[in-house]
Amino acid sequence: MKHRILLALALTGCGVAPYVGPERMTDAPSPRSVVQVHFKDRATLDHLSQRGVDLFENVDAARGTVGATLTPETQLVLKDLAVDFDVMVPTLAEAGLPDGYLTLDQLAADLKAIAAAHPTIARAVELGKSLEGRPILALEITSKPGQGLPAVRIGAGQHARELPPVELANRFMHQLVDGYGKDAKLTALVDTRDTWIVPVVNPDGRAKVEAGKSMWRKNTRQLAQGAQGVDTNRNCDSHWASGNSSPFSEAYRGTAPFSEPESRAMRDLCSKQRFKVSLDMHNFGGMVLWPPGHTATPSKDEPAFKAIGSKLADHLGYKAGTIATTIYVTDGDLASWEYEKFGTLAFAAELDDGAFGPAHERVEKDWQAWSPNLVALVEAAKPAP
Ligand SMILES: [Zn+2]
Repeated sequence: MKHRILLALALTGCGVAPYVGPERMTDAPSPRSVVQVHFKDRATLDHLSQRGVDLFENVDAARGTVGATLTPETQLVLKDLAVDFDVMVPTLAEAGLPDGYLTLDQLAADLKAIAAAHPTIARAVELGKSLEGRPILALEITSKPGQGLPAVRIGAGQHARELPPVELANRFMHQLVDGYGKDAKLTALVDTRDTWIVPVVNPDGRAKVEAGKSMWRKNTRQLAQGAQGVDTNRNCDSHWASGNSSPFSEAYRGTAPFSEPESRAMRDLCSKQRFKVSLDMHNFGGMVLWPPGHTATPSKDEPAFKAIGSKLADHLGYKAGTIATTIYVTDGDLASWEYEKFGTLAFAAELDDGAFGPAHERVEKDWQAWSPNLVALVEAAKPAP
């Protein structure tokens, strides 16, 4: 069904239309549909994102399409902006964690079991607690902790509904520790790098998904007027002020930079370890991305980002480029903050699964594709000559 909307909102200049008030006044759940949005230019895409439309990351700039979920309220934003869309799924059924995925409890137990089984090369570290008091766990893998080896961070699970990246982070822990002493390359990486893996940055959001809210993205902070959740990947202190200020938006920035314990846990880890290279895994869109998120102008380190990022993307058949030019403008994202603050070659990836939480069989295909890439990423953190 094609919606031809004739009522156009006159947008003045290229500034972003201001947020004009709560999109809904009660905490009654809004039914959601999944749609494909047709945008005519990147400015429209940025307006939609700013106005709180839950856009997916699968932007196809050539065709001018992107997926989204719509509530009756955000549908009005598309109407305002005279943007067409096709309805793909009229009413989304939410069903929790699909069969085969590890639960939050299993993931935590597994991380601790790996550390216990490999005490000379792996340590379980609690980075902090989530808003609801759940531990945010990391596994540090190196045979020489605290010796200043080039450090690498691999994270997943900031956006709760994006399930396969969490499984890949978990599998990569196993790959590194199981390969130690058996595989020459993996052994060398454990001896010459300090690798930190954070499989679930946002455990409260993940618990919500497991409890049935399979489209939950943000953390679970209670906000005014029944809104809930801050996007931890818009809560970092990088161009935060221009981020999304609507508590009902799926990309809500929060009340202040690093207002959320989950983003503070990542801030503190990054500040302590000063990672040379990092990767934050998301789903979906089939992209390897790097800063900046807030502007289309590339950073001075564009050649270094491109050399590594394009290689990863080519192996996967993904798109590659800056966040702002490949998806849409973002403010306060972790990769951009980490790069600006510490010069980390901080990447983000969107897997290409075509759904946030696909059937678990899909994870095997992702793992085959990503396993060599994760090894290459750790390798890319070069020791000083
Ligand atoms: Zn994401």
